[in-house]
Amino acid sequence: MNIVLLGAPGAGKGTQAQKLVADYGVAHISTGDLLRAAVKAQSELGKEAKSYMDAGQLVPDSLVVKLVKERLAQDDAQRGFILDGFPRNLQQAEVLDAELAGMGIALEAALLVDVKPEIIIDRLSSRRTCHSCNYTATAGVDPCPRCGGEMYQRDDDKPETIAKRLDTYANQTAPLVEYYRGHDILKEVDGDRPVDDVYADVRSLLGL
Ligand code: AMP
Repeated sequence: MNIVLLGAPGAGKGTQAQKLVADYGVAHISTGDLLRAAVKAQSELGKEAKSYMDAGQLVPDSLVVKLVKERLAQDDAQRGFILDGFPRNLQQAEVLDAELAGMGIALEAALLVDVKPEIIIDRLSSRRTCHSCNYTATAGVDPCPRCGGEMYQRDDDKPETIAKRLDTYANQTAPLVEYYRGHDILKEVDGDRPVDDVYADVRSLLGL
C-alpha cells in the first residue's frame, strides 16, 4: 500500500491513517508529526519550521521534502506507506512523483477525506493530541488511551490559527484534488461520519 491522504486539517486523515497502520503494518508518514518532533528536539530544522507552523503557514518545501525523503528511505517504509499531510502543494506533489519514480514505485491512490469547513473548525478546537505517541482524541480524553501519555492542545489547534490553516489549505493544498484526479488515482470518502463508518469505506475504496 503506497498512498497519499488528502483533506483539510482536522478532516480525520491521521485517525484513518492510524487505523490502516494498525491493521496493515504500513509506515505512517505524517509531516506534521515529523515537524513537531523536530521543534520539540530544537533541531535547526525545527527552529526554522516553528514560526511557519505557529502562523498556520506551510513550512518551506526544501525543509519538508528533506524530511520526507529521509523517512521514505527507512526500512519500515519499504513495506508500504501512508503519507499524511504531504504533499501540501503542487510542487511537493511533483517532487514526490519524481522521488517515487526513482525508487521504482508509484502511488496507488490519493484518498480525499472530505469534510465541510464548519465541522472542521469545531473538530480542531476540541482536538487533543498525545505528547508521546501523537494519538488524537476529543477534549476530555486524558491520559492517552493508546499509551497513557499526556494529552495536550496543539498551539495551532487554537482558534486564531485554525482560520489561517484552513485558508492555506484552500489556496495551496486543495488544488491537489484535481492534480490526482488528472492522474486517475483520486478516491473520495465522506469524512463527516463516525470514524468506523469512514474506515469501512476507506478499506473498500482501497480494495482491502
Ligand atoms: P499537520 O499536523 O499536518 O496539520 O501540520 C501542522 C503544520 O506543519 C502545518 O500547518 C504546516 O505549518 C506544517 N506542515 C505539515 N506538513 C507540511 C507540508 N507537507 N508542507 C509544508 N508544511 C507542512
